[in-house]
Amino acid sequence: MLEIRNLHARIAEDGAEIIRGLNLTVKAGEVAAIMGPNGSGKSTLSYILAGRDDYEVTEGDILYNGESILEMDPAERAATGIFLAFQYPMEIPGVATMEFLKVAMNEQRKARGEEPLKISEFIARVKEVAGTLNMDMSMLKRPLNVGFSGGEKKRAEILQMKLLQPKLCVLDETDSGLDIDALKVVAEGVNSQRAPDRAFLVITHYQRLLEHIVPDSVHVLYKGQVIKSGDKSLALELEANGYAGVIGEAA
Ligand code: ADP
Ligand code: MG
Ligand code: MG
Repeated sequence: MLEIRNLHARIAEDGAEIIRGLNLTVKAGEVAAIMGPNGSGKSTLSYILAGRDDYEVTEGDILYNGESILEMDPAERAATGIFLAFQYPMEIPGVATMEFLKVAMNEQRKARGEEPLKISEFIARVKEVAGTLNMDMSMLKRPLNVGFSGGEKKRAEILQMKLLQPKLCVLDETDSGLDIDALKVVAEGVNSQRAPDRAFLVITHYQRLLEHIVPDSVHVLYKGQVIKSGDKSLALELEANGYAGVIGEAA
């Protein structure tokens, strides 16, 4: 489903290379964990997958279902089923969460050649999914993410994911800001959406999240490259011994 080949990317503004020859393959149905020390390029990778224009790809390719997405803008990527939940979700003052969800869902339907949802149908769907996340409908009248706590932001992201039913979900988690409730919201969101035709890239610094989401594969990102891949036991090894051993081996 996702194949990243020898990706090199730099910050557009100052030309600093952050991603330096990254290779990664994620199959449909797979949950892949991306781990790595702070500053290794995990969030940068998620921004590049989203298509943010602050980054330039200078070499390599990103294939989604066999086709390069490099020329696609962020809206096109979303329309083909790529979903990103960021470490720091964007606050959108002046746009009620409900309105944002409606636009997002209807844009996706438009891209698929479907009619917009009837308003009653839309509200019923949001209510149903919000209920599974213990989200109060009154929260959805507030502007998206503005003044939301860390946990509420995570709930809002998982709500979007459950409503949009994307195929490739990339979740960039805060390294330490998530309390156990927020971790469980994310984990339940991922676990309930696991499907043979859907893949997840779960980005995390600590093994803690992976106690709740058991990954099929674990990849260690360091200095913009995947330096080691393995199964879930690799996460446990990192938890026990830290990143130093794996970094030493790679060097
Ligand atoms: P991680 O998520 O693994 O902690 P990041 O992707 O946030 O790492 O950052 C990787 C490196 O790139 C860091 O050294 C960070 O300072 C740098 N970096 C990322 N984006 C920018 C940017 N827009 N401007 C300047 N430096 C950046
Ligand atoms: Mg970081
Ligand atoms: Mg990060």
